[in-house]
Amino acid sequence: MLRRALLRVSRSAKIKNLVTTAPVTAGVVERFIAGETSDEVVTVTRQLVGAGLLVSIDYLGEDTIDRSHVDAVVVAYLDLLTKLRESGLSASAEVSIKLTAMGQHLRDGPQLALENAELICRAARKADATVTLDMENHTTTDSTLEILHTLRKEYPGTGAVLQAYLYRTEDDCRDLAVAGSRVRLCKGAYAEPETVAFQDRQEIDKSYVRCMKILMAGNGFPMLATHDPTMIDIGLKLAADYGRGPGDFEFQMLHGIRPTEQLRLAKLGHAVRVYVPYGTDWYGYLVRRLAERPSNLRFFTRSLITKN
Ligand SMILES: Cc1cc2nc3c(=O)[nH]c(=O)nc-3n(C[C@H](O)[C@H](O)[C@H](O)COP(=O)(O)OP(=O)(O)OC[C@H]3O[C@@H](n4cnc5c(N)ncnc54)[C@H](O)[C@@H]3O)c2cc1C
Repeated sequence: MLRRALLRVSRSAKIKNLVTTAPVTAGVVERFIAGETSDEVVTVTRQLVGAGLLVSIDYLGEDTIDRSHVDAVVVAYLDLLTKLRESGLSASAEVSIKLTAMGQHLRDGPQLALENAELICRAARKADATVTLDMENHTTTDSTLEILHTLRKEYPGTGAVLQAYLYRTEDDCRDLAVAGSRVRLCKGAYAEPETVAFQDRQEIDKSYVRCMKILMAGNGFPMLATHDPTMIDIGLKLAADYGRGPGDFEFQMLHGIRPTEQLRLAKLGHAVRVYVPYGTDWYGYLVRRLAERPSNLRFFTRSLITKN
């Protein structure tokens, strides 16, 4: 309930202004975001890769309705991929992109988002890196999957994301559990209506397990994006049941969340990829992280009240 309320309230311009200008925000932002520039994110990537982790880098921004902003996001990714290649990190670092930052909401949006995603996939191929399409709210799911299928004709390594909270996701897992298909499974981070999504945490967890089974039993490459200890244990058990070794699937977690667990799994020989966001447009991302964890939110609101 609290999570959904927060995600809704966060759309208010007043709340956005309060959060982005509050002095306490900087400390919280620092925990989850790797910096504002590509040089900063490359430095963080080098540290994580040095510690035995893999990385997926996200240039922050979403729901863009301004064409010049869309173009700037594409340029930022191209610059980042050049830097990854030059720094020799691209074998361990891919990029995650949001199609709503590529123009999906503009006029002729799906076509524009596809063309921009193609530019990034081409640059990624040159850098020997891969691209994963983040999944956003349910109004974009069909369009995102269509763009994924088109991209995969030329760039078969393009990763998909599916959200266990959507009723449709078990079917989508079946469709995507095919040879060579990289699929990130997450619980889902948006406030979705009950017409399309489970609302109850336990129902979402059960759906996550069903989806994991489909992906682990299939022929694709499952990427289990969760910090939940129960899901991680079940994922490990399913990997053993289906004879998947460390190179046949990976765990994914967010930068700044359960870093000790990330290293523990990597030391056991598992592939662990850390999702590392950077850039100045961090508001939507930060709100979703606060909404996921009541203790983060309590700390944040208490600081807002005492410092303002
Ligand atoms: C690599 C990656 C990529 C993602 N990509 C997408 C995407 O494209 N689309 C999308 O909708 N969602 C995405 N998500 C977010 C995801 O949908 C969930 O909202 C988020 O991961 C929290 O769910 P959970 O599985 O960790 O379990 P939860 O049930 O939320 O949490 C389980 C436990 O994890 C820890 N934890 C979880 N969140 C936090 C936090 N913010 N701070 C501190 N501890 C925490 C706590 O110990 C908690 O008890 C992604 C997540 C990851 C890890």
